[in-house]
Amino acid sequence: MPQPTAAPTLAGRMCMQSGQVVFAGSGPGDPDLLTLKALAALQQAEVILFDRLVSPEILELAGPQAILENVGKEGFGAQVSQQHICNRLITHAQAGKRVLRLKSGDATLFGRLDEELSACDAAGVRYQIVPGITAASAAVAGIGQSLTQRGRNSSVRYLTGHDTQGFADHDWQALARPGEVAAIYMGKKSARFVQGRLLMHGANPATAVTVVENASRTNQRVLETTLGQLPADLAEARFDGPALTFLGLAPRASLTALPDLPVQTDLKMELA
Ligand code: SAH
Repeated sequence: MPQPTAAPTLAGRMCMQSGQVVFAGSGPGDPDLLTLKALAALQQAEVILFDRLVSPEILELAGPQAILENVGKEGFGAQVSQQHICNRLITHAQAGKRVLRLKSGDATLFGRLDEELSACDAAGVRYQIVPGITAASAAVAGIGQSLTQRGRNSSVRYLTGHDTQGFADHDWQALARPGEVAAIYMGKKSARFVQGRLLMHGANPATAVTVVENASRTNQRVLETTLGQLPADLAEARFDGPALTFLGLAPRASLTALPDLPVQTDLKMELA
């Protein structure tokens, strides 16, 4: 008779060292979308420096020994300087702590990771990077779509609506072409700017645009609109949570027709 095998434990998969920094993505908010490595780091860390968008449910998974420091920044104008965050990382690591730097989504995307890695390099602090599920992956799953599609788009762009200088510039001409798909992060305040640039470069005002607020969270909301209507519809929706804007994608038609059905059911997929 086959013997039941023991379930693998988290210990052994990931072992944080003292004086080391782990940079981990916490995913889009749903704790079930954490990686096992990020969970192990949460349980082992002595100090956790976390961003504003890391959800409270995820912070609750921290070990009892962990000291939690909120180093969150708001879009348009930092409250906590990047220099301060780098200093905190280095100070804790040099004091021999196991430090977890927890960033929302994937730490390598729009998270100013490089500046913190450079600070570690300069101070001789060891680190490792643990990837996470980025907001665009969660949001596209939430609307039953695919980021790429044969015959429609063979590439997808990840854009930020603004950077430290203000509204961010992009290759608007390329983005305005039919069939392009882009995931726009931090795109709420820049919606009118993005719309204006795209229309100026010849984009069709009827291009599908979808905004997903709080992707993967229990309070996820979806706004289905067009490029022409985006600023007006977004203002009306009054989204106050983090929101991801898709240029060139509409929610899958079967989801819109039967909004009460959960996205993942087999029925949904058959209807698609
Ligand atoms: N590193 C993160 C992005 C940080 S920038 C990642 O990989 O997801 C912050 C922006 O991410 C927000 O302004 C918003 O556009 C997007 N975002 C983060 N979490 C989100 C969520 N749960 N739902 C929708 N958008 C989200």
